[in-house]
Amino acid sequence: MPHTPHTPTSRSRGRSRRRLRIAALLASAVSVCMVAASAPPTPLGVGDRLFPHLGNPGYDVAAYDLSFTYSGSNSEPLKAVTTIDAWTTADLDRVNLDFAHGQVDSVEVDGEPAGFATAGEDLVVTPEDALDQGEWMRITVRHSSDPVYSEDREGGWVRTADGLAMANQADVAHLVFPCNDHPSDKARFTIRVTAPDGLTAVANGLPVGVERSGGATTWTYRHDHPMATELAQVSIGRSTVLRRTGPHGLPLRDVVPTEHRAALEPWLEKTPDQITWMENKVGRYPFETYGLLMADATTGFELETQTLSLFERELFTEPGYPEWYVESIMVHELAHQWFGNSVSPATWSDLWLNEGHATWYEALYAEETADKPVEARMKAAYGASDGWRAKGGPPAAPKPPTSGSKTGIFRANVYDGAALVLYALRQEIGRAAFERLERTWATRHRDDTAGTADFVRLASEISGRDLGDFLQAWLYDQKTPPMPGHPDWRPTATGQAPATAGAHGE
Ligand SMILES: [Zn+2]
Repeated sequence: MPHTPHTPTSRSRGRSRRRLRIAALLASAVSVCMVAASAPPTPLGVGDRLFPHLGNPGYDVAAYDLSFTYSGSNSEPLKAVTTIDAWTTADLDRVNLDFAHGQVDSVEVDGEPAGFATAGEDLVVTPEDALDQGEWMRITVRHSSDPVYSEDREGGWVRTADGLAMANQADVAHLVFPCNDHPSDKARFTIRVTAPDGLTAVANGLPVGVERSGGATTWTYRHDHPMATELAQVSIGRSTVLRRTGPHGLPLRDVVPTEHRAALEPWLEKTPDQITWMENKVGRYPFETYGLLMADATTGFELETQTLSLFERELFTEPGYPEWYVESIMVHELAHQWFGNSVSPATWSDLWLNEGHATWYEALYAEETADKPVEARMKAAYGASDGWRAKGGPPAAPKPPTSGSKTGIFRANVYDGAALVLYALRQEIGRAAFERLERTWATRHRDDTAGTADFVRLASEISGRDLGDFLQAWLYDQKTPPMPGHPDWRPTATGQAPATAGAHGE
């Protein structure tokens, strides 16, 4: 939704009206109110089928201002201040934020001290005065942000050889900072990091300030597009920032461990051409900058953090990976900037829209630049698809994450299993309509959220025919439908996953 500037008038007007109503209630039913006020805080959510307690009802965040102070050791908590500007969408006596795994020192609402308590993974804030629907509120939380996690609940900070990086997808941004931790509530971000001299900090967006004082430097970054909490990135390390120019003057910056700069630089020179390739497929790159963060860490995944994708350094320096494969993974994370970031999922069940598209362009790039036919990959995926659906659910109705599983909801059914759905759609409506659909999707929902029903609707609109039944079967059936144009394709008996690049990228 569009946001209007924070005006004190609307706030005070709403507040006094609400106070009157509460005073009247208190006068008429004091005992009832006392009971209500002492009811225990409870964790809330926005009703995501896969993560019932993620996000919170009653407000819409417009902006986050995150401030981190790093001691120089990545095993010590950072000091942090999180400021949230939000618009209330309901009357609120309490405001639930998502936050777990950190010490909260104080909370203010509109500059006044507020009460706070923990309930599940929520930080429940009780402002001095209740809030009316349609008010601006500013919540300031002083807290710690601890990069050390237990085995069974890893958080968003990634400890690298020389500092920290961030990987919040899908549901762990709130283990780093208090937030409305669901992609349906995107907001602008300003991120400030104070670190000892000798370290470099980089975050989403472009730098807006660097201040040095007393042996430390404060780096400030601002991102001028709405972003989901899961896509925030903060890199702190002994890093070098390499700058270059992309298509039509797009500023690119990559972050590499200084000691590996020479080995990594040749890979980074590939980015401008990859962006041009993607732009030729789906239209203009959606943000003000792009780049790769090559972290000295073993994560087991790469991640499309907005404007600054996170990669394991070893993907580029380990000689075992073929060049075409590494490049296709680079394109996978780049494609996410359109699919998953600029257009983010309305719910986590729409994850196939992120991963299916990123896998699709990963495969298409390998076909066009490395002679790896998409059709062969899709035939193999078709063979495995029934097995993937049995294990992880149909692409648009994935099974919930199982506790203790590192994979969570990121299973083959939403990678090659969902790219297979896009292939089937292209077979059904033809290349020209399919390519028009892809461009229109990225343009129409730019800087917004959209879900599976939106995609089905647009596919029908663009192709000029009702694709509801066709896509319903491909997206929600337990069994994979017949492939248009390939009646001979069959599920393989073993249901084995083909060896594809999809397993590497998130
Ligand atoms: Zn991905």
